[in-house]
Amino acid sequence: MVSLRESSVGTERQVITELPGPKSRALQARRAHVVSAGVTNGFTIYIDRAEGAILVDVDGNHILDLGSGIAVTGIGHAVPELVEAVSRQVAAFTHTCFMVTPYESYVEVCEELAALTPGSHAKASALFNSGAEAVENAVKIARHATGRPAVIVFDHAYHGRTNLTMALTAKNMPYKDGFGPFAGEVYRVPMSYPFLDGLTGAEAAQRAIHQIELQVGARNVAAVLIEPIQGEGGFIVPADGFLPALSAWTTQHGVVFIADEIQSGFGRTGEWFAVDHEGVIPDIVTTAKGLAGGMPLAGVTGRAELMNSVHEGGLGGTYGGNPVAAVAALAALRVMRERNLVQRARELESILFDSLNALARDVNIIGDVRGRGAMVAIELVEPGTKTPNAAAAKGVVQYCNDHGVIALACGTYGNVIRLLPPLIITDEQLADGLGVLAEAVRSVS
Ligand SMILES: *Cc1c(COP(=O)(O)O)cnc(C)c1O
Repeated sequence: MVSLRESSVGTERQVITELPGPKSRALQARRAHVVSAGVTNGFTIYIDRAEGAILVDVDGNHILDLGSGIAVTGIGHAVPELVEAVSRQVAAFTHTCFMVTPYESYVEVCEELAALTPGSHAKASALFNSGAEAVENAVKIARHATGRPAVIVFDHAYHGRTNLTMALTAKNMPYKDGFGPFAGEVYRVPMSYPFLDGLTGAEAAQRAIHQIELQVGARNVAAVLIEPIQGEGGFIVPADGFLPALSAWTTQHGVVFIADEIQSGFGRTGEWFAVDHEGVIPDIVTTAKGLAGGMPLAGVTGRAELMNSVHEGGLGGTYGGNPVAAVAALAALRVMRERNLVQRARELESILFDSLNALARDVNIIGDVRGRGAMVAIELVEPGTKTPNAAAAKGVVQYCNDHGVIALACGTYGNVIRLLPPLIITDEQLADGLGVLAEAVRSVS
């Protein structure tokens, strides 16, 4: 039996040194000699252990985590069920390569993905290590199944940092600058961004479809690839009707509709998947982040006829669906069900909106409060305008971090503060974090 470490973390934020503390600063100096400058840190505190929604750094500070490692540890840190499942699996075997000799947990994860992703049609999955790898494979499969080349993506999209996914990602700096040439046959069309474009979902969909038909031609399109709620691009929730209209167009033209649910999936938005809010049934869903409680695992789940159209051996990878990551996913999904975390995300949504809307009435730099479930953001603007205010966002993140709260910025214009708390966060912890965030926003107003 695995023995679990006694809890020594507690549930409260507690800052006992300046942040970053002396030990973190020493580690940061050490890292400068050996870690590429291309890899940066949002917050240079070095973590020693973590539990629930609290990270403990090497100086003993207890930090409140409102980022979940970018929507990964939705079930919280060091969840006993996950620790036990992973520990047992490490002791049993860590790797065989599924393509060499298979094991049950891979199959079980694919059964779970078939059951949880939208639609009751026959589905098949393939497992990978990262979100980018899942997106690349979804595009490979769509091209193979349709025999067509073009992939449609959207303004503000983020799909990863590999060569193909850089091409799919919208923002130049820091993701693409100087890293080209990029993969071809990728076409970008306008997203629905209600705060800035004021269009209905139907109007925004018509604008995108018109551009696809004019510039690409439906019969050349393999896939429309979209984040149902954009993550890095600024937590942009498209206007109602936008996703259903796009999905209907893809069905009509034999185009594969790929929903990139890597950030928005697994209960984060108050449904298992963000497309569930509008009853949209994608042909392929890509998943990663929240899937395996922090172990690297990603999935491509799609209509069986699409997924099985690929020739034998056409998909795979050495580590994809690694057994330790697979049992972690099974444990994480059990925890999500047992603790009703999808429902909990809806409760968090109402706490977040109440608090942030009240704050937005009080200050003049919050242009928009938006999101679903526990995926909620504020868009910061120059007072009384819609002009992006990236300096304010930077100041807010700095203030939060200085006070032991992890808050993340995002957005094409760098002016959005996104909250992605672990779904197990307590009401008291969330109130504490929102209190610091409110002080932060007031401090830069
Ligand atoms: C994070 C993310 C990716 C890339 O995932 P990695 O695991 O970092 O490769 C792709 N799509 C979306 C929507 C993401 O949020």
